[in-house]
Amino acid sequence: MARFAALLLFATLAACQRDAEPVDPGLTVSAPPPVATAPLTADEQRIAGDVGFLADDRLEGRETGTRGYDLAAEYAAKRFREIGLQPAGDNGTYFQRVPLLKATREAEGAALTVKRNGREIALRFREQFLPALDFNANAHAIEAPVVFVGQGVHAPALNHDDFAGLDLRGKIAVLFSGAPARFDNDRRAFHSASREKLRELAERGAVGAVFVNTPQDEAGSPWSRSADNWQRSGMRLRDADGKGMNTFPELRAVANVSAAAADLIFADGPQPAATLFKAAQDGTLKGFALPGTLTMAARTKIEPVESRNVVAKLMGSDAALAAEHIVYTAHLDHIGIGAPVKDDNGVDDAIYNGALDNALGVSILFEAARILHASKPAPKRSLLFVALTAEEKGLLGAEWFASHPTVPAPSLIANINMDMPVLLAPSKDVVPIGIEHSTLKSVLAIAAKEIGVDLSPDPFPEEVVFVRSDQYAFIRAGIPAVYLNGGTVSADGVRDPNMALRKFMREHYHQPSDEATLPIAYGDALRLAKLNARIGQLVGDAAERPRWNPGDFFGEKFVRPK
Ligand SMILES: [Zn+2]
Repeated sequence: MARFAALLLFATLAACQRDAEPVDPGLTVSAPPPVATAPLTADEQRIAGDVGFLADDRLEGRETGTRGYDLAAEYAAKRFREIGLQPAGDNGTYFQRVPLLKATREAEGAALTVKRNGREIALRFREQFLPALDFNANAHAIEAPVVFVGQGVHAPALNHDDFAGLDLRGKIAVLFSGAPARFDNDRRAFHSASREKLRELAERGAVGAVFVNTPQDEAGSPWSRSADNWQRSGMRLRDADGKGMNTFPELRAVANVSAAAADLIFADGPQPAATLFKAAQDGTLKGFALPGTLTMAARTKIEPVESRNVVAKLMGSDAALAAEHIVYTAHLDHIGIGAPVKDDNGVDDAIYNGALDNALGVSILFEAARILHASKPAPKRSLLFVALTAEEKGLLGAEWFASHPTVPAPSLIANINMDMPVLLAPSKDVVPIGIEHSTLKSVLAIAAKEIGVDLSPDPFPEEVVFVRSDQYAFIRAGIPAVYLNGGTVSADGVRDPNMALRKFMREHYHQPSDEATLPIAYGDALRLAKLNARIGQLVGDAAERPRWNPGDFFGEKFVRPK
């Protein structure tokens, strides 16, 4: 699961922190409630074995472009071969090449200075600002006048324009993350994406951008976490000319500023940061020109990287329909080695293993593939199984596959994605994400009934998980998608899946402690594999392809090229 710097995610998590269970200071270890656990079945053991391998320290957190990821990719190909699936990558192999560009910050030369009313205020690198990764130039240095553009949202259909009356030509735009709370969740998520914001700024002639964090942004993702990981690289897809895709070269400098330093950016302006933060929450934010100029400079190391998606196929059993494909996906990469964090024994751990995120999703993908391969006859339509690279770098492996599929693009009819199922307390249910957008809803209802699992509403709809994992790359290509999260209703009345989810997000998400030693409910994992397999079977055999619902926001926004 990728971090998404824009929504109420952080506010929700902060709320979780506030109502967390009180800690008994006498307890050093939080003992789990005594619950009898049955030994794992053979099927569950197979899933646990896959998780154990992929989340082992020796795979070093499976970061895209590292040896650890490449080992994981070899493992995925081996598992697909063992299951009996055909290779469906490049040139008869299980691998699809994904060309990437990697950017890493250099500390030297980084500067962000406010020049205003005869004074110069230099913000402190790491402590107060971080240059965004520059995929277009090894060094940049600009000075330009400054305009505050609110959240940088242009949504005429919703009567909202943060740019009204503001001239951005040749200017540096200062903006906040997010989108107005009055927007429905889907539109809010779409307009919160920094990619959409940067596009709007570039189109209006801005030459730079400064994202100022709000306290809400930092409630769940403190500035110190970004600062500690300032050396962490980022990636973009690389085009045939060797250039980064979706990098907006018109914006020559982009930086992030901590909430604590916001007043330096707004100094001598019409409103202090606190007033603007409040206005952002109230939906009354208005942009304005700021006096003086900003200078921005940074150096970046830019290098080409090759990574690979792992692609396998189960041929459909119907002569005509076998030409159509349902794509199962789960991202194989995680975030690698980062800033060390002390584990429960006080020992520094720098390997971000990603057991739930997303060794577990990949292992469930293998199991779903195994179930489908064993079912006779095979579904009428063909099935693709893709272990994706570079999800954590911005859904890049998925975007490459959705735009350069190894089968004809129009033959892709549905995506079934598995990412970070938080299965840490046995549940009776699953939470379908984004299912209200397409006819896949009725398919899921049938499959869930057959498998005997309840469907629960999304406990955090405002987080719009639908746009935060690989399925969004398929949605952007016009392909309906289904994505199932772990359940919320306790199976044993003792262990609470909701509490377990909150605890995971608070303590383990994107931390070194997301490890295979967590109490994963493998029975639930097996059930999820069966459910995902059954969905594929039903879609594979259905008379018609899945369709977006009439008038659906995503269905209309991302029209499929004919
Ligand atoms: Zn993640």
